[in-house]
Amino acid sequence: MWEADSAQRRDGAERKVSGAQVVAEALKAQDVQYVFGVVGIPVIEIAVAAQSLGLTYLGMRNEQAACYAASAVGYLTGRPGVCLVVSGPGLLHALGGMANANMNCWPLIVIGGSSERSQETMGAFQEFPQVEACRLYSKFSARPSSIEAIPSIIEKAVRSSIYGRPGACYVDIPADFVNLEVKATSVKYTECCLPPPVCMAETSAVHRAASVIRNAKQPLLIIGKGAAYARAEESIRRLVEQCRLPFLPTPMGKGLVPDGHPLCVGAARSRALQLADVIVLFGARLNWILHFGLPPRYQPDVKFIQVDICAEELGNNVKPAVTLLGDINAVTKQLLEEFDETPWQYPPESKWWKTLREKMKSNEALSKELASQKSLPMNYYTVFHHVQEQLPRDCFVVSEGANTMDIGRTVLQNHLPRRRLDAGTFGTMGVGLGFAIAAALVAKDRSPGQRVVCVEGDSAFGFSGMEVETMCRYNLPIIILVVNNNGIYQGFDTDAWKEMLKFRDATAVAPPMCLLPNSHYEQVMTAFGGKGYFVQTPEELQESLRQCLADTTKPSLINVMIEPQATRKAQDFHWLTSSKM
Ligand code: ADP
Ligand code: MG
Repeated sequence: MWEADSAQRRDGAERKVSGAQVVAEALKAQDVQYVFGVVGIPVIEIAVAAQSLGLTYLGMRNEQAACYAASAVGYLTGRPGVCLVVSGPGLLHALGGMANANMNCWPLIVIGGSSERSQETMGAFQEFPQVEACRLYSKFSARPSSIEAIPSIIEKAVRSSIYGRPGACYVDIPADFVNLEVKATSVKYTECCLPPPVCMAETSAVHRAASVIRNAKQPLLIIGKGAAYARAEESIRRLVEQCRLPFLPTPMGKGLVPDGHPLCVGAARSRALQLADVIVLFGARLNWILHFGLPPRYQPDVKFIQVDICAEELGNNVKPAVTLLGDINAVTKQLLEEFDETPWQYPPESKWWKTLREKMKSNEALSKELASQKSLPMNYYTVFHHVQEQLPRDCFVVSEGANTMDIGRTVLQNHLPRRRLDAGTFGTMGVGLGFAIAAALVAKDRSPGQRVVCVEGDSAFGFSGMEVETMCRYNLPIIILVVNNNGIYQGFDTDAWKEMLKFRDATAVAPPMCLLPNSHYEQVMTAFGGKGYFVQTPEELQESLRQCLADTTKPSLINVMIEPQATRKAQDFHWLTSSKM
């Protein structure tokens, strides 16, 4: 413990420090760098104090987006970002972001101002049971009992957010703490928590897992976003290549081993899941994204080997053949030791590889055919094909929407880990712009020159469209593509829309999925000084994207008009096919 000089003021003989300064100093002591928020009474002073201590503060337009941004920083850097919000409604708006972070297992700290303690139960301004409200959405939720207790509560929050399964934590700061001053000497700052301890799996379980893998006839590795968070790219890539095992990334597991890798079977996803006899899960839960691990999407007797840091996750929905409790990077190295000791490779000429390769070939041919269609308005595949052609290999791809995200994921490639951010485990729409802002900041500080391309459905864009102003204010050169089909899932074209309104009012006849046709979303960007493009042809799309990529000084938005009734190519299974025990 030590006393922070920078937060102290000389006030006569006795130096004093305010609650706001203590919060900022305690965050700095825990090595927290990024704060996103929407200020107002009573948290303005906290933001100012954080800024004056050298933390990066980004003011956003809605608490939800601020919270999404803070959580993405946690995923991208391994250190939680902070979302700073006002009392009552401010905190309530942030709950969506907290829930999303917790569901994604991403670290996050939310700091909420709250009404004065002396007015509790009196109907104070924006009074709300905030600590209680956050419990459902967090791993830890607490209010320090005094200003002196703030540093230790912030240390607990930061530590809880990154130890074990990462998640969201909440710290409540009553309004009367913010400007209240205490003797600087009475505040002791808790030292920065140690990095999360690395735990390894039981040796006998590792041995059993290696033996199950060796005996597999149709093996498959699934790489999830837990492996991305664990920064296990090097060890997993070695395992994949050394044993020549087919692998399938989950949406945000993409890029840990590059998408274009010859052992990637992403283009035969359904087939690979359905026919594999042994599946190793590296940080991916058997939830809806992986169809619960159940038939008809899997063999009834498929052997799962689960690698996870969270013991409660092991055996969820399916009884695994082997469980490896521990850090993915450490456990993968344990597996590698087994295969170093007794080398083994899955035969590249097996029937399994033949089945997978055939399926990949036919799926790729189908997508290619759809992408080459010349008719206007464009379809999804044509749009993504042209985007993919210009996408820098190291860029961040942020994506959300229904078809926009699902189809985009199959076409847009990731070559590096943690370069894809999307609606995630919670299927949250509205995350895109907040994530893009976080990625752009992290890129600016840690990998200058890497771009952020944010591919949004028109509906998804609407949830947080005003964050375009935030991008312009901070000069973040994000490229937003709005893939515009005039609706949620599908929409109407202008003629059909007008025809419909001839008879009755829109509230009576407009299908709930329709949005206003031909909306000029690019003008939201130009309104704040960014660049905007309205494109209807492949040539216009190519040219505008070229211009956006060439400009590293400001954000841009390309509004891409597509066929309002465009859909996905036929699937073997619908994404949400029901599974049965
Ligand atoms: P996906 O959406 O890619 O399928 P999930 O979010 O469902 O991935 O699963 C991620 C899993 O990774 C979670 O169960 C989480 O507990 C686990 N996890 C997170 N960090 C680590 C780590 N360092 N080591 C092992 N498992 C981890
Ligand atoms: Mg749409």
